Amino acid sequence: MKRTAAGDTLFILEDAARGAAVGRVLRRLPRMTGAPVRLQRARGLRDRRGELHAGTFVRERRIAFDCSRAEFPRIFVHELFHFVWLRKGNAARRSYEELVKSECLEGAAGELGWSAEWRKRALGRRDIDARTRRWREYCCESFCDSAAWLYSGIGRHEEFTLDARFRGRRRAWFAGMAGGSALSI
Ligand SMILES: [Zn+2]
Repeated sequence: MKRTAAGDTLFILEDAARGAAVGRVLRRLPRMTGAPVRLQRARGLRDRRGELHAGTFVRERRIAFDCSRAEFPRIFVHELFHFVWLRKGNAARRSYEELVKSECLEGAAGELGWSAEWRKRALGRRDIDARTRRWREYCCESFCDSAAWLYSGIGRHEEFTLDARFRGRRRAWFAGMAGGSALSI
């Protein structure tokens, strides 16, 4: 077990082989603050839908990974932003909801990760208007997938399917959110 090479105590690496990749991602991320999060390796993660790349346990402050080296940066950022979403106030979450609501109403196709995309495809107009659980889960996954697209350092991926003009709005929204103080995780 070792602390990140970045010299901070934000992450406790239980899988030293991920150290370099974690360091590279950290240099791309906005400043973050919070109690340490454990990064662990796991095997055979599943939920009722099938295999999972990672499991995040926010209260236990740990993330278990079951993914390839190539996918690790994208999955790491996605899981990390689940912590950010929970810590963000309602105002920021509602602001993100308004952003993706406007996209949906304009007929924006695609998303920035499969986790958000399958949820988006399952949405009906009532989910948006009534802010159903399905809608709120979509918003959360969309937020995490957008962060992964933006900060993982991966320029192209088959799961990045959102129309280009909407990507620019997501980028601008994140710049506004991350522009001030450090993000709490
Ligand atoms: Zn997620």
